[in-house]
Amino acid sequence: MARLGSWIEPFSEGIYVRPADAWIDPSQPKSRALVTHGHGDHARGGHGAVWATAETLAIMDCRYGSQPGNPVAYGEVMRLGEVDISFVPAGHVLGSAQIVLEHGGERIVVSGDYKRRPDPTCAPFEPVPCDVFVTEATFGLPVFRHPATAEEIDRLLQRLHDNPERCILVGAYALGKAQRLIVEMRCRGHHDPIYIHGALERLCELYAQFGVPLGELRPATGATKEELKGKIVLAPPGCLNDRWSRRLPDPITAMASGWMRVRQRARQRMVELPLIVSDHADWDELTMTIEELKPREVWITHGREEALKHWCMTRQIKARELNLVGYEDEDD
Ligand SMILES: [Zn+2]
Ligand SMILES: [Zn+2]
Repeated sequence: MARLGSWIEPFSEGIYVRPADAWIDPSQPKSRALVTHGHGDHARGGHGAVWATAETLAIMDCRYGSQPGNPVAYGEVMRLGEVDISFVPAGHVLGSAQIVLEHGGERIVVSGDYKRRPDPTCAPFEPVPCDVFVTEATFGLPVFRHPATAEEIDRLLQRLHDNPERCILVGAYALGKAQRLIVEMRCRGHHDPIYIHGALERLCELYAQFGVPLGELRPATGATKEELKGKIVLAPPGCLNDRWSRRLPDPITAMASGWMRVRQRARQRMVELPLIVSDHADWDELTMTIEELKPREVWITHGREEALKHWCMTRQIKARELNLVGYEDEDD
């Protein structure tokens, strides 16, 4: 009998699904690509044909120009070659999907990036029991336990209220993190206009078009120092300490990321107010998900594999590292 899951093959540039002749999240241009979500380390331009959710395709169009896309709705089953394929929500960013593959009586779920805690900007992760679970492990160490998002947002808003003469400049990735922070702030009662860096504008518009209620956003560029006092300004992390931020009134520098748990990372970026808000599963979410799906094998795509591998082995689940390269460039 063939080894479990032998019909999909991990290569450094992505996962090849042989009986469908298609690649999952390939980092090189391929004739057929199945794309889990729009982050740059998973979705690249230049493929011959792309299957993804409508949201992911719209994000790819926005970043790379028009793509040869085939939209797949959540839950819809399509057949490619000899494989039944469906996309189910991953709870990571707008349009993010796990890819469920069925062939020869085996079910393999490729998670892409995912998280389990609620996110008002995307559909929640849907658990699909499977034979092989191909998972990320960005925060695959027991030290990573993300706090409740509302607590982090409340700390941010409290700091804002305590400093009416200053503004808070929050570093947040342009896809997912920025929009989630905006909606989380709205949910915690902050309805002031939020000022955004130009690099966030198109993706915020795209989220609004897909029905995510962001409230009033204004361009930060061109706003006067007076106008920005007591306001939240969002910008990509790379803009936190560069010339762009000099236009702001005595900014308090914040950053929202799962890595803000690590003090050294916050110091490196000269972040005064680290906010631990992650779009990836923390240790408890990773292990809870594996317990729930009860796979016979767990394959780990990227991240800190060792601890999770060990955890699986102590529970008689076979685990293996795939060592895919090029992930984790832009999202955390
Ligand atoms: Zn991602
Ligand atoms: Zn990623």
